[in-house]
Amino acid sequence: MALPEGATAGLRDRESPGAVPSPTAAAPREVVDEALERLLVEVGKETQPQPLRAYGDLRGMVAIVTGGATGIGRAIALELARHGVHIAFNYLDDGSDGVREEAERTAEELRQLEVRVLSRPCDVRCSNEVAGFVQEVTEVLGGVQILVNNAGIARDRALWRMGDEEWREVLDTNLTGAFHMIRAVAPILRAQQYGKIVNVSSIHGLRSEFGISNYAASKAGLLGLTRSAAVELGPSNVNVNAVAPGYIRTTRLTAAVPAEVLDRARERTLLGRLGDPQDVAHVVVFLCSEFARHLTGIVIPVDGGHLL
Ligand code: NDP
Repeated sequence: MALPEGATAGLRDRESPGAVPSPTAAAPREVVDEALERLLVEVGKETQPQPLRAYGDLRGMVAIVTGGATGIGRAIALELARHGVHIAFNYLDDGSDGVREEAERTAEELRQLEVRVLSRPCDVRCSNEVAGFVQEVTEVLGGVQILVNNAGIARDRALWRMGDEEWREVLDTNLTGAFHMIRAVAPILRAQQYGKIVNVSSIHGLRSEFGISNYAASKAGLLGLTRSAAVELGPSNVNVNAVAPGYIRTTRLTAAVPAEVLDRARERTLLGRLGDPQDVAHVVVFLCSEFARHLTGIVIPVDGGHLL
């Protein structure tokens, strides 16, 4: 970076005949000036803020966001797209009303941000479906650099009443689903020596509450998976991190959780509010950016201080 002409003049003018002699005092004036000029250029380079360049680096990349049709996944997909990232997202078409329509609405909103979009049903619990989805993403969108494991479900019940199916479904979706995805993209990320993986865990992976043993175990397991994947993929220049959202206002959360539980959760946060999907999305995009290039194997709570 070139400094403006005369920028060093003030510094030079500050030298006075009475100053303590420095080791360079005997050096010719031009040599001192040249060294000073070099030093200032280096300092200038070091201290230049570079936010736009770092986020701009995401432009043209391809991200897979699991469960991207709704809620937090949708917000993450949209925020990545705002940074010029092409998006592939999947969802679970379990035959319930409006799922496809919701996915199509999200896909349309993404396309309006002028990125390419691939969206279709793919059950993360099924390793063959996941392998097929990742293959299609690379063929249609030309590769993959970012994976956000967001798909997740809850089936709350006291553990002595919990059925095998409730336990298995939650573990299979929240933990095994993320493993299937990471295993499918790992060869691609390793071959290109570049990649970002972000796992959407939960504060309940760090501290539990009544009736969520399956969910808490899956989200704590996801943190273990995050650290293991960071260890194994770090040498291939792949960052693997997690976010742990607190209570986030998504339609499904507000529909499923009783109002008094939400009120209690709000009171527990230091900031006195529930989070929005956007609050999580911004942190995920940060973890995908070069600002976070020296972070790996960590978990960032996005909880307004709920855990303190
Ligand atoms: P949503 O229900 O809106 O999103 C979950 C998404 O996962 C849906 O799109 C759903 O697809 C998809 N999904 C579920 N099962 C599967 C599957 N087997 N295969 C593929 N996709 C699947 O919930 P949120 O946005 O609230 O949650 C997103 C993530 O954030 C979850 O992992 C959740 O545990 C986590 N989280 C949420 C918090 C909150 O307060 N909301 C707090 C902490 C963590 P479909 O639409 O077809 O059902």
